[in-house]
Amino acid sequence: MKKEGEIEFIKDGKRVDGRRFDELRNIKIEVGVLKRADGSCYFELGDNKVLAAVYGPREMHPRHAQDAKMAVVKFRYNMAPFSVDDRKRPGPDRRSVEISKVSREALDPVILREYYPKAAIEVYVEILQSDAGTRTAGINAASVALADAGVPMRDLVSSVAVGKVGGEIVLDLNAVEDNYGEADMPIAMIARRNTITALQMDGNLTKDEFEKGLKLAMKACQQIYELQRAALIGRYNKDESAKSKDRGT
Ligand code: ADP
Repeated sequence: MKKEGEIEFIKDGKRVDGRRFDELRNIKIEVGVLKRADGSCYFELGDNKVLAAVYGPREMHPRHAQDAKMAVVKFRYNMAPFSVDDRKRPGPDRRSVEISKVSREALDPVILREYYPKAAIEVYVEILQSDAGTRTAGINAASVALADAGVPMRDLVSSVAVGKVGGEIVLDLNAVEDNYGEADMPIAMIARRNTITALQMDGNLTKDEFEKGLKLAMKACQQIYELQRAALIGRYNKDESAKSKDRGT
C-alpha cells in the first residue's frame, strides 16, 4: 500500500486526475427517479453514484418518539456492498452512523420542521458507487430529494469537501487524494447566504489554509446550488409540458 509522500499528487500544476486545484468533478443530477418515494434524487459526483429517497412528512412511529412541536428528521446513510473496492459488509457501522448524524444536522437548519408537529420526515441515502466525498454527494442529493418531496424548506443545502494534497489546497478530493492526502474537510452550506451548516476536518490545516479552503468551498457550493436548482426546475417544467401535451395545449 502506498503511503503519503510516495504519490505524486501534483504534476505540472494539475492533480492526479488532471483537474485544476479549484475544479469540481463532473456532476449529474436527476430528480424524481423513484416512483414510490415522495421525493428522490440521483446524484453523480465524478465516480460517486448516490441515490436519495424521502418519505413524508407522515405520522411518526413509534409515537413515543414524536415531537409535539415539530417534525423529526431521520437520516440513514448506507453504503451498498458493491460500492467500494472490496465488498463492504452490509449493515450499519460506526462510520455510517456518524455520517447519518452529520448529514441530518447539515439539513436540519433549512427544514421548516415546525410546520409538521408529531410527524416524521425520513431521508435515505444509498451509496451505489463511492470515490470519496460520498457524504457531500449524499447531502446534495438529500437536499434535492427533500425539495422534490415538497417538504417546506428555507433554501437548499449544498456540500463539497476541500483538502490538502501535495502541500496544495484543493477542491473536491477523489479517493486517492482523500486516502493519502494531508487533510480533508467536508463542508455543507446554504450557498446563497454563505451559512455553514456542517463542517468536519480530518488532518491539519493552518489558519491561512483553512481560510483558502473555505473560500474554495463557498464558490463550489454556489456552483452546486445552481445545478441543484436547475435540476429541480427542469423536472417541474418537464411535468408541466407533459401535462399541457395531455391537455392538447
Ligand atoms: P466520504 O466518502 O464522505 O469522503 P470517508 O472520508 O469516510 O467519507 O471515506 C472516503 C472514501 O473511502 C469513501 O468514499 C470510499 O470510497 C472509501 N471507503 C469508505 N469506507 C470504506 C469501506 N468500508 N471499504 C472500502 N472503502 C471505503
